[in-house]
Amino acid sequence: MVFLADRIADNLRVVLGRMAEAARRGGRSADDVRLVAVTKYVGPGEALALVAAGCHDLGESRPQQLWRKAAALKTAGVAWHLIGHLQRNKVARTLPLVSLVHSGDSLRLLEALDAEVACAKGDPLPVLLEVNVSGDAAKHGLAPGELEPLADSLARLPRIEIQGLMAMAGREGNLDDARREFAALRQLRDELRAAWAGRWPLDELSMGMSGDYEVAIEEGATLVRVGSALFQGLE
Ligand SMILES: *Cc1c(COP(=O)(O)O)cnc(C)c1O
Repeated sequence: MVFLADRIADNLRVVLGRMAEAARRGGRSADDVRLVAVTKYVGPGEALALVAAGCHDLGESRPQQLWRKAAALKTAGVAWHLIGHLQRNKVARTLPLVSLVHSGDSLRLLEALDAEVACAKGDPLPVLLEVNVSGDAAKHGLAPGELEPLADSLARLPRIEIQGLMAMAGREGNLDDARREFAALRQLRDELRAAWAGRWPLDELSMGMSGDYEVAIEEGATLVRVGSALFQGLE
């Protein structure tokens, strides 16, 4: 167990160091980029080791896994991020546990989230709009051209707060493609800011995973979602 915690703390140091370097290369401050540690490959013990090493933003792509780990780490002070598809029948159970939903991938889901916040009488829920930048039919997300016309519909959902955009690069391992897609997401964000006249600040760009988070930071990511790089080398 000691070895495991040390290894995870080492991995975290390496990732945070690379994030800071990438921020510098992009002419940005390291403080402008937050790490969301994706714990989907590991159990609550490894997730807890990460928290002990100083990382309090944890992400899960499957709601049931998030429920399970949030229960196990109840007192650890974790801010949970849902980064994967949320079916509407899981909204009620997921909502009280999450600090940010990265995967706002359809108007129907956003409407369900808004209704659930109203029902729970909670504070507005921070949400990112997931964009399918690569056009891969197997991926969730709104097509880039679908976003701007959503303005009126989104304005009718006062209990969700659109904080920015999220995307995944299409083909893993091709950094040139990834860079182009990340740059496109940032440009789309800039266009929406203008088109929506500042109705939502859209400060957050959630993009970059273990294979491409440095490129994503160079292209403007404010949140990177890193899993395997934090847990490599574990027995
Ligand atoms: C799994 C996952 C990640 C992390 O992937 P790694 O390559 O292991 O860093 C990031 N984002 C989403 C949406 C994921 O499902």
